[in-house]
Amino acid sequence: MTNIALLGSTGSIGIQTLDIVRNYPNLFTIDTLTAADNWEKLAHQAIEFKAKRVVIANEIHYHSIKQALKEYNIEILAGADALEEVVKQQEIDIVVVAIVGFAGLAPTIATIEAKKRLALANKESLVVGGEIVMRLARQNGVEIMPIDSEHSAIYQCLVGELTPPKRILLTASGGSLRDIPIEELKNVTPQRVLSHPVWDMGARITVDSATMLNKGFEIIEAAHLYSVKSEQIQVVVHPQSIIHSAVEFADGSIKAQISYPDMRLPIQYALTYPERMNVGGLQSFDPFITSTLTFQKPEAERYPCLELAYSALQGGGILPTVLNASGEIAVEAFLRGRIGFTDIARVVEKSLEMTNNEPLQNISEIYEADAEARANALFIIDN
Ligand code: NAD
Ligand code: MG
Repeated sequence: MTNIALLGSTGSIGIQTLDIVRNYPNLFTIDTLTAADNWEKLAHQAIEFKAKRVVIANEIHYHSIKQALKEYNIEILAGADALEEVVKQQEIDIVVVAIVGFAGLAPTIATIEAKKRLALANKESLVVGGEIVMRLARQNGVEIMPIDSEHSAIYQCLVGELTPPKRILLTASGGSLRDIPIEELKNVTPQRVLSHPVWDMGARITVDSATMLNKGFEIIEAAHLYSVKSEQIQVVVHPQSIIHSAVEFADGSIKAQISYPDMRLPIQYALTYPERMNVGGLQSFDPFITSTLTFQKPEAERYPCLELAYSALQGGGILPTVLNASGEIAVEAFLRGRIGFTDIARVVEKSLEMTNNEPLQNISEIYEADAEARANALFIIDN
């Protein structure tokens, strides 16, 4: 029995994680569930999965969820700090961090410090704090199991290999705007962007897929997880999303991970590794139905965020934090109709330009840089 704390249970990754748990009650139990605002869904999930405790991160919902769960023996906590506390429970085996955004950093670090197995969907924590997070994981003997499909693919390619990778081929669907004329990009609506051709994901990551800022985050994520340099990571647009990434070794041999796109595969792999089980009812790949796999170079003009991410990785220090924070603010402004789609890259670029970069020494500097970058991004949007 694997006992799970699932942080961000009401989101896209969270719900799919619970799908897997629902299918295999003999393998998995739920200890803790958490959400930011959606207390109703959190309460339903807690009842269905017999959770021992829940955390509602936004404290204003505390009384609502307390009322909803009053007949159940479920501990109810509120506030961001509680997310760092709950992962320490002795009976927890795996913590799934499926929180979106910068808020995932603190619980990720708390999980590592508690020496729990970390199934990490939250890419932002590796983007902003990659070096520190990886160092802490090594010091605490914690293995990070990536849930991001590309990083799970890379992980699977590396299992059993003794030589380091020579090159990583990081695949990308190209997002929801891959095929529209570049000159139309500035006028696209949030609604148009949110209809992703392949993956059904949370709002932020869907917009980030269209700008490829998401792929930029994944470059940084891969660099930290697999100790590779930026020039070893090549982004390849692969519209079918069948190859989830590939790794080239010293002899030129390339291993790829292939499956139909379904996030339940990387999620279950993170939960069951080193074993493999079909716990999600996943569809088997049919090479005769899906007989064409194609690859394209990402167009620099369509995806300016890609280059911004490479330069943030190369510059290091607080630049990746600025990349993430300004991206978060810009996407929010776009979704609210305050800026256009192509302004997202502009806001990120200007934010990076405004940054006085410095090497990172500790976590508190990430928080300072994050707050400053958010203020700068808002200033850029307002002016
Ligand atoms: P989502 O928006 O659907 O869900 C986010 C979850 O985090 C929700 O449960 C929400 O309540 C919680 N949350 C949001 N803000 C919070 C805060 N400030 N404090 C505490 N909890 C908070 O997002 P998602 O698509 O499930 O993505 C989750 C993470 O996984 C992201 O980092 C994303 O980049 C990554 N990821 C997602 C996918 C995917 O297919 N959805 C794929 C790869 C990686
Ligand atoms: Mg991904």
